Amino acid sequence: MFNPGKDTVPDTEENRQICRKYCTICENYKHHSLDQYQPGELFCARGTSSATSMKEIGCFCPACELFAKHHIRGGYCCVRR
Ligand code: SF4
Ligand code: SF4
Repeated sequence: MFNPGKDTVPDTEENRQICRKYCTICENYKHHSLDQYQPGELFCARGTSSATSMKEIGCFCPACELFAKHHIRGGYCCVRR
């Protein structure tokens, strides 16, 4: 399906390191202990978290360089992609 708002984010160690600067310190991540669920990081490349019933609080994705580079929209990549 054509989806102009998204393009592919490579699942690389470099990108995981970038992600850690944002996801691991955001309220959503801490509140829902997303480090305890798979995948624990780089949700924009690896898919949504397996954690359920998340409230959406304080996503930092819009500040992340991968967000702009890959034209990601909306944020909350751990909840919905
Ligand atoms: S856009 Fe969000 S999920 Fe993707 S690397 Fe950046 S902070 Fe992590
Ligand atoms: S995708 Fe957004 S809401 Fe989810 S952990 Fe990363 S910064 Fe937080």
